[in-house]
Amino acid sequence: MSGASPLPDVDWEPVREFWAAAARETLVIPRCSGCERYVWYPKPACPHCASQDMGWQEVSGRAALFSWAVVERALFAPFEDKAPYVTGLVALEEDPAVRLVTNIVDCSAQALRMDMPVCVVFRPLEFSGVEGSVTAPFFAPRG
Ligand SMILES: [Zn+2]
Repeated sequence: MSGASPLPDVDWEPVREFWAAAARETLVIPRCSGCERYVWYPKPACPHCASQDMGWQEVSGRAALFSWAVVERALFAPFEDKAPYVTGLVALEEDPAVRLVTNIVDCSAQALRMDMPVCVVFRPLEFSGVEGSVTAPFFAPRG
């Protein structure tokens, strides 16, 4: 195939633990040992207290829908046969300032609401015509 693979690079050091945990159906987020705040996207040092003592912390997977967009026509070829789909930003229950970019699944676009309770679900991320599959966190309505 031409161009970059649409699959995430699970061996890229800054996010390797994120994808390794996702393969075990666990959601982990970097947390500073100095000030105990969550930091996303992963950074070598804490943006709040500059500590470089960052670890990975398992989180509940519960979140609130912060924002979303319904993609009717994919701009990137590998996503064409997934449309329509919903990309969303979810605010984690542990710290709503931590927002993950994800896809919202198992919900019609019309049913989406601001602050809707969602929870993580793990699904294989794969693309037609692309070899391989990565277990990835998506979010679905809760309850
Ligand atoms: Zn810190």
